[in-house]
Amino acid sequence: MSLGDVVGHERIREILSRALARDRLPPALLLSGPDGVGKKTLALAAAQAALCERAPAPEPCGECRTCRKVSSAIDPGRLRGQREEADRHPDRDEWRNFRLHPDLVLVEGWRLTRTGRPRPEPEIRVGQVRDLVAEVPGAPFEARRRVFIVDDAHGMNVSSQNALLKSLEEPPPRSHLLLVTARPQGLRQTIRSRCQTLRFGPLSRGAVTAFLADRHGVSEEEARLRAALAAGSLGTALAFESEGYRATRESLLALLERIEDLDALARMEQAESLEQAEDPALLLTTLRSLLRDLAALRAGATAETLLNADVAGRLAPLAAGPLGARAVSLGETAGGTRTALRGFASKLLTFDVLVDALCTK
Ligand SMILES: [Zn+2]
Repeated sequence: MSLGDVVGHERIREILSRALARDRLPPALLLSGPDGVGKKTLALAAAQAALCERAPAPEPCGECRTCRKVSSAIDPGRLRGQREEADRHPDRDEWRNFRLHPDLVLVEGWRLTRTGRPRPEPEIRVGQVRDLVAEVPGAPFEARRRVFIVDDAHGMNVSSQNALLKSLEEPPPRSHLLLVTARPQGLRQTIRSRCQTLRFGPLSRGAVTAFLADRHGVSEEEARLRAALAAGSLGTALAFESEGYRATRESLLALLERIEDLDALARMEQAESLEQAEDPALLLTTLRSLLRDLAALRAGATAETLLNADVAGRLAPLAAGPLGARAVSLGETAGGTRTALRGFASKLLTFDVLVDALCTK
């Protein structure tokens, strides 16, 4: 994976490439910006370039032994296997520190508690950070540099953040710490101030559309639709193909099908269960895609042109009913909910408002 393969973010890619070419990658970097725009992908590409046997260079060569080792370690299937393995041992904090190369560690948060119960937000435990902190001062094993990437860095609890500070105070000359986060405000000011920050914006619709069409073979029309719903997040645009999307869609469809019959108590329960969703952004994108299809059907669109063409049979009766009549404005409400959740709004209250909007005839 080269830096040039990352979609968008030209300015940030240039800054990183120049730093790598001059052998001046900063000791601590904070990559912050919305979910699914390529922060972790770019962090991994920069790590590969720093470790590459032909470094310093603006890009990893992609051919040396180190590059090949890193490329195969970051293969999505292989990473998934490591995550599943870790989840079978939820009490072993450090199992979620993935060693991708002797000199490259990727720290990810736990989505399970130590007793194996699901967590709504990922947590980076103090045991993981202690492991990392112990390793940061060491000399590289094989490469010229060592890189430690902490994904979802805001998932570090107070003890984890305190433990990490030590490494940031005395950064060793050949180690680099890359913190990746969608919520920098979840990090202590003392951590943020010791890092150089790279701020990622959302991707343009054009960039997301082109990526889906060129690299994923999605038709132009569908690519445009998905890009519009994904609000600048490639991760969200790609999620339309995922298992998670289908499961989320099924539960939302079931909700929409009985929305007319919900009493006040049932509405509250619904809002609570939405609030617990593992990925609220995906939930809201899915809802918007369904509402978009209802509006389209209402306006006379054919089933084949829907984003959710495979469930057109269930959407048709909804489109003909009161939900269909309000689908356009409800879609806007769902979009507003997504924006509110990115800020500091109370999650439960926000979903309360959304469920109420869906129910009101
Ligand atoms: Zn290389």
